[in-house]
Amino acid sequence: MLKRYMKPYRKYLTWAVILNFLSQWMNVFSFMALIPILNILFKIDTTTYEYIPMDIHHLNKDVLVNNGYYYINYIINTHGAFFTLIMMGIILIVMTLLKTAGYFASSAVMVPLRTGIVRDIRIQVYDKVLNLPLSFFSEERKGDIIARMSADVSVVENSITSSIDMLIRNPITLIVCFITLFGVSWQLTLFVIIILPLAGWIMGVISRKLKSQSVVAQAQWGDIMSQLDETLGGLRVIKAFIAERKMSQRFVKTNNDFRDAMNAMVIRQSSAHPMSEFLGTCVIVIVLWFGGALILNQYSPIDAAMFIFYLVILYSIITPLKEFSKAFYNIPQGLASMDRIDMILKAENHIKETEHPLPLESFEKELEFRDVSFSYIEGRPVLKHINLKVEKGKTVALVGQSGSGKSTMVDLVPRYHDVGEGALLIDGKNVKDVSIASLRSLIGNVNQDAILFNDTFYNNITFGVENATLEQVIDAAKIANAHDFIMESEKGYDTMIGDRGGRLSGGQRQRVSIARAILKNPPILILDEATSALDTESERLVQEALERLMKSRTTIAIAHRLSTIKNADEICVLYEGEIVERGTHEALIALNGYYKKLNDMQSL
Ligand code: ADP
Ligand code: MG
Repeated sequence: MLKRYMKPYRKYLTWAVILNFLSQWMNVFSFMALIPILNILFKIDTTTYEYIPMDIHHLNKDVLVNNGYYYINYIINTHGAFFTLIMMGIILIVMTLLKTAGYFASSAVMVPLRTGIVRDIRIQVYDKVLNLPLSFFSEERKGDIIARMSADVSVVENSITSSIDMLIRNPITLIVCFITLFGVSWQLTLFVIIILPLAGWIMGVISRKLKSQSVVAQAQWGDIMSQLDETLGGLRVIKAFIAERKMSQRFVKTNNDFRDAMNAMVIRQSSAHPMSEFLGTCVIVIVLWFGGALILNQYSPIDAAMFIFYLVILYSIITPLKEFSKAFYNIPQGLASMDRIDMILKAENHIKETEHPLPLESFEKELEFRDVSFSYIEGRPVLKHINLKVEKGKTVALVGQSGSGKSTMVDLVPRYHDVGEGALLIDGKNVKDVSIASLRSLIGNVNQDAILFNDTFYNNITFGVENATLEQVIDAAKIANAHDFIMESEKGYDTMIGDRGGRLSGGQRQRVSIARAILKNPPILILDEATSALDTESERLVQEALERLMKSRTTIAIAHRLSTIKNADEICVLYEGEIVERGTHEALIALNGYYKKLNDMQSL
């Protein structure tokens, strides 16, 4: 996981390693200053030391220790024991200051690394979400994706924090401490190495179950987010159906499930600290017995003050080991979350461009559905052998009952989905062979629900169009019958329209989205029930705007109300994914078939 994200932060890593080494050695030296202090206090050391001359060839541990003691004894003899104690205390303070400063610096240097990695993951997920095909999001629920982006990323952050400690700080502590321990007494240290893994094994057994528990909990958190999202979007309906109680009960149930999963996990997790504390003390006591036996023995390899120093260093090993055990909990949890994030990051975008996509600069001749079949779910075709030619400048209308596949059919043109069998050709080129960006830039969409963003009128209209002047925007708004009501709002084109255009009526929203399409000025226009959600008055305004927009453009219009597409050059009637009738309005009426029936029902 770290390998994937560490690269840009290598310099922080190098600094962290250097600073940690420094602070660890300072740690050891500061405790080393304790040895002579203890010796002075307990008047243990009665040997007299002779100064051994130091030169490069005779520089070893024994010489250094001996000369250290010689100087200390010298100072005690000339200035008294209490003065020496003060001196040693000052040395201890300075060493500790260096050690803590180093510790702080090494922590500080790791902060940008941690926050940077989390930022990178979040941005990666967001960019991936932008690029995945629409079909991905009908399978994966929105709340789940939000949960993956928020909660799972936090868990990963936590886990990265502890794993960075585990990978950098703790190994360095362990290396430095073990070097020291071996330096003091290799016999005792061998003994420690034998009993430590036992304690580690006990910790490992407990943490193993954590990963699966964490997966369950995160999935339930996703449920909670979905419900919240659904509720915010559906508040109007919930209130209308007086379903607050029902929704609340459903939410309570999901929350309880989440709580149960968390209970099991957190309780297990909170056993980490006390457990390692207890095991650590057990280790110390066992070493105390063993070392005590050595010291009480006449031919002891170490003295009492040295042994206390040894125990202090041994205890400093317990802390990183404890953090290892914390990492044992956090890392599986982080990996579980990373798996969930990877579900998004590694999701395959099956709407791909070919290696050398053809540029598509303009639309010249015709758009053709050639024997197109499509299904969302294998074995259940939504479109069957569709053949349709839309010539430049013509308007083709699709009608048919809801669920007959009209929206699916027009979604194939900008490649929101890819055709199953057959081919979709634009000026004779297969849409799969042309660049997606150039294909989509030729197409304008106006759908049943206008999708607007929480921004100003101006920014909503210029969405996706660069360098539009205010005059162009105003012209577009005028054609779309939107200029008047925009000017009536308090700040004109700079008025914020609210979340998803919530401050506007349905008709106004639709006219803003038409203005947006007009400004984009695409040669091909797709209208998917653009007026279906509107009342008659605003339908008239929108219809007017649409007719101006359709002028001199190639249009595929899906309409619920047949009156709006009466003048289309060709009308195709879809029934269960097949075109069952086609022709002009008059021809279809004369045919006296399905279209005639639809028309009669509506004129009633
Ligand atoms: P229309 O626009 O004519 O009302 P659609 O094209 O939206 O119909 O839907 C056609 C059929 O495809 C319907 O039966 C619908 O249930 C199904 N369908 C639409 N979208 C999806 C989807 N994302 N996944 C699976 N099935 C879908
Ligand atoms: Mg539809």
